[in-house]
Amino acid sequence: MRRALRTVPHYRERYAATGTLPPLTRDEARLRRHLLMPLDAALLPRRDPGRPPREHVAELREALRLAGHPLRGVDVYEVTRASRDPVRAYGTTWRVLLDATAETDGGPGRRTPPDGPALVVGDPGWADGPWPDGVVAVARFGLAAAAGARPAPGSLWYEPWLGYLGAVAAGCGELHLNTARVHARTLDGGTVLTLLKRRRPTFVHAEPEGGGAFRPERCPRHGGPVLRSVRRR
Ligand SMILES: [Zn+2]
Repeated sequence: MRRALRTVPHYRERYAATGTLPPLTRDEARLRRHLLMPLDAALLPRRDPGRPPREHVAELREALRLAGHPLRGVDVYEVTRASRDPVRAYGTTWRVLLDATAETDGGPGRRTPPDGPALVVGDPGWADGPWPDGVVAVARFGLAAAAGARPAPGSLWYEPWLGYLGAVAAGCGELHLNTARVHARTLDGGTVLTLLKRRRPTFVHAEPEGGGAFRPERCPRHGGPVLRSVRRR
């Protein structure tokens, strides 16, 4: 956070005006994206390569481990709107399946089920299947959806603008945070998130949709940081 105050224009400006870092909404992040880049790593649209796929894959892998999915000997397919070359990492091949809404040259994306042992990570509806034998569907959810319906054990917490941040652990059913990636705290009556490893853009006190329905607490069974619904106590 101190580094963000020192090096990221958006936070410098906000802090100078108010002496605090108010929640950062998704709309604000989109409009001020260029101001969320550190001064030494400004956004250059023509040359900006975006986020390296390996970083994304590392984050997804950590969420799958938190959820308790064994990865040995399986390929992982992620349902996305954009195509990406397969990534070979951690003894697994990480592929994408195009979402039905993806824009492709050949009309709408087609749902081609994987064959062989695989995990398919997608939004509810996509994750439901039916899938062939050996294929396990893993649902991902955002906090806004989780506030309405409790996510199933084994599903992944994913915010489209922030990434894979945690998972509902199979053993305890609690929404565990990936503590290497994200820190949660309450601010102005809601839960805000600070991403610990990502600097371009830098997210401090990002306010996920639905964050007001959750509070950071400790897992009663494992002791690690979890988010729990305010209403379900
Ligand atoms: Zn737990």
